[in-house]
Amino acid sequence: MSAQLINGKELASEKRESMKKEVEMLKEQGVKPGLAVILVGQDPASETYVRSKHRACENTGIHSVSIKLPDTVSEEELLGHIDKLNEDDAIDGILVQLPLPKHINEDAVIERISPKKDVDGFHPISVGKMMIGQETFLPCTPHGVLEMVRKTGIEVSGKHVVVIGRSNIVGKPVGQLFLNENATVTYCHSRTQNMQKHTKDADILIVAVGIPKFVKDQDVKEGAVVIDVGINRVDGKLCGDVDFEEVKEVAGAITPVPGGVGPMTITMLLENTIQSAKARVRS
Ligand code: NAD
Repeated sequence: MSAQLINGKELASEKRESMKKEVEMLKEQGVKPGLAVILVGQDPASETYVRSKHRACENTGIHSVSIKLPDTVSEEELLGHIDKLNEDDAIDGILVQLPLPKHINEDAVIERISPKKDVDGFHPISVGKMMIGQETFLPCTPHGVLEMVRKTGIEVSGKHVVVIGRSNIVGKPVGQLFLNENATVTYCHSRTQNMQKHTKDADILIVAVGIPKFVKDQDVKEGAVVIDVGINRVDGKLCGDVDFEEVKEVAGAITPVPGGVGPMTITMLLENTIQSAKARVRS
């Protein structure tokens, strides 16, 4: 393997160690950071994510509350839970695990969360602030990606960043974060023509498509940093959107799946919750 491995698990655990200390300091000031997670239905992948989030909170000393609702729950009832959590002084962050059942309007749910507790960074106010470079909760996966690239030590300013994928939770915001860092950003998506022309020119290639092994060695420039956001299950095994075995021979640095972006996503969620608790101390 020629590429440097960007180890998300290791970076996440380093960050969580320093977060533990921050949580201790907050507790000394009488504030225990609190995160509430609402899970609707019984999607196995969502249940796994929610469990990981709780475990991470526990290990960091963050108080976590889980609200499980049946998939028949009405939108009104779900919004009622959010209203209560918005008012709850012990809760600094509220997260509604997506996707939601079809009869519930996801936008309405996200917009009901107080922007002060929007630790997922999905509220239109948070998104708008991020866009114009104001301080806000940054969305966790994109923020984790930025931290991982920073860890490689490469200067982001002036680099060509190519993002494959334009979803509201990964593709679009990750490009915006790199633009805020003075990168030149190109977005590729399902309608992009001659995509390889763009990806081959990327100094930093970020892949969030949801198709196993979508990016091959011939798509990548020699020495590029490749960040694989994808989480796919193939024959019971997790794999990313990048053909790791091929691309590691061409890239300068690469994230693995599992053990790459995933652990960093949860870590940035903890960081947002702590940031919100600090604001509670100041208020
Ligand atoms: P999505 O389905 O909402 O978006 C996929 C994007 O890929 C779309 O914008 C689409 O235009 C693009 N796309 C689809 N087919 C394409 C093609 N043939 N060529 C080019 N672009 C194409 O997915 P998402 O929510 O952004 O997630 C993407 C992947 O990242 C999934 O595997 C998901 O599981 C994973 N994910 C991981 C984390 C994490 O913490 N690691 C967090 C969120 C999502």
